[in-house]
Amino acid sequence: NVRVRFAPSPTGPLHIGGVRTALYTYLIAKKYKGDFILRIEDTDQNRYVEGAEDYIIRSLEWCGITPDEGPGFGGDYGPYRQSERKDIYGKYAKQLVEAGKAYYAFDSAEEISEMRTRLEAEGNRAPKYDHSSRLSMKNSLTLTEKETADLLASSDDVIVRLKIEPGEEIVVNDIIRGEVKFNSSELDDKVLLKADGMPTYHMANIVDDKLMKISHVIRGEEWLPSTAHHVLLYRALGWEETMPKFAHLSLLLKPNGKGKLSKRDGAKFGFPVFPLEWKAETEEDSFTGFREFGFDPKATVNFLAFLGWNPGTEQEIFTIEELAEAFNLDQIVKSGARFDIDKAKWYNQQYIINSDNKDIAAYLKVFDAETYEKVSDEYLEEFVGLMKERVELYGDFYDSGYYFFEDIKSYEEKMIRKKWKDHRPEKFAKFSEQLSTNKFSSESLKGELEAFIKEEEIGYGDIMPFLRLATTGTMQGPDLFQTMELLGKEKSLKRLGEGLN
Ligand code: GLU
Repeated sequence: NVRVRFAPSPTGPLHIGGVRTALYTYLIAKKYKGDFILRIEDTDQNRYVEGAEDYIIRSLEWCGITPDEGPGFGGDYGPYRQSERKDIYGKYAKQLVEAGKAYYAFDSAEEISEMRTRLEAEGNRAPKYDHSSRLSMKNSLTLTEKETADLLASSDDVIVRLKIEPGEEIVVNDIIRGEVKFNSSELDDKVLLKADGMPTYHMANIVDDKLMKISHVIRGEEWLPSTAHHVLLYRALGWEETMPKFAHLSLLLKPNGKGKLSKRDGAKFGFPVFPLEWKAETEEDSFTGFREFGFDPKATVNFLAFLGWNPGTEQEIFTIEELAEAFNLDQIVKSGARFDIDKAKWYNQQYIINSDNKDIAAYLKVFDAETYEKVSDEYLEEFVGLMKERVELYGDFYDSGYYFFEDIKSYEEKMIRKKWKDHRPEKFAKFSEQLSTNKFSSESLKGELEAFIKEEEIGYGDIMPFLRLATTGTMQGPDLFQTMELLGKEKSLKRLGEGLN
């Protein structure tokens, strides 16, 4: 039974790379008719950020990723917030100590830093608390039983460390990366339980993956080195046989391919790297999101799926259900995936073009209620029909078609207006007048203009640009006659009149 989890730490807004990890994990769950579990890894109280958990859940929800189990979602393996599972980890840590696989350590931060300095002075480039240095430290391996018991009774700052023996080979068979080898001699005796009684990420992660019966761990590449410790921890707990399979996803890279995409890159490159807006105390720590930028969640999901995966066919447009069917961990690329916002925009454009006007209209009403609530559904859908081939993002509908909802703010192409000035008044007035008896359908408007041109012996270019400019203020836009029809007779004639000034 496939059981996979997304296990974010609520240390801030969820980066778009995190959303991709969640998506891939979700797709695997759906593909194999398994379970997708959301687990909140909130044991690091120093890094806990208020509102982050809520942000994570809202982001997943926006993408249409619904956990089968998780905080607020039910499930038989809860609680799904690690801070509520403290006792469980304590029990396993104790069990490890009793079995001689872990030990209590009583060293103060100072003593540890002294140890580092000493080792560095001895020429050790990567000093760490390990099989050799632990011998000179204050822990249950070097102290007598009595000393240990006394310290345990009197001290608040007891931590538990995993006892790692040197010279052991650790082989991780990563689904994406293949065989990755580590040697235990290079690993430190990782802290399992911290002085505040909270488990470290490693301890909680392994215990929970076991207890929640996780079959596959899908996560970012930055966790690959930790996997060595994780394997040893499974081994120490006697759980190696049922250890989950690992799949480490490549990093998202900056658009220029140079280095890892960071949360500051959004501001730097002028695009979002978060799914939703995040409001922090300072401007610098606040971020806009894909949603606010005008991306559709379905297009975003499609884009994210292709960021490091491809189906091996020509097909590029997928619904989330189709993705679940096509998705495969074997087709994930090993190298980093370049974050290309133009590609995201392309997906969005495709998505808009292929969606029903009705659905887009409904989305726009939520996206920018102030603008779109002003008009009827019918008007809005017509508007969408006129504009949808001309936009990439939801915001573009307003940016290039605001004049369907408000008065013209400014006229573009002043030069043309000037040129028109000489012979404009009478022709323009004449035509406008003629239109006042028109029933104002795009067909009739078109017919009328054609007749007028013939009669006046002028060309299209002598009147069309000016008509367009007067009606919309811009030279770019959808079919003019349809635009006029939608705006309606009253508004159109008024604008033509104003265009005469
Ligand atoms: N809590 C870790 C994170 O924030 C989870 C890593 C994992 O999936 O094991 O990314």
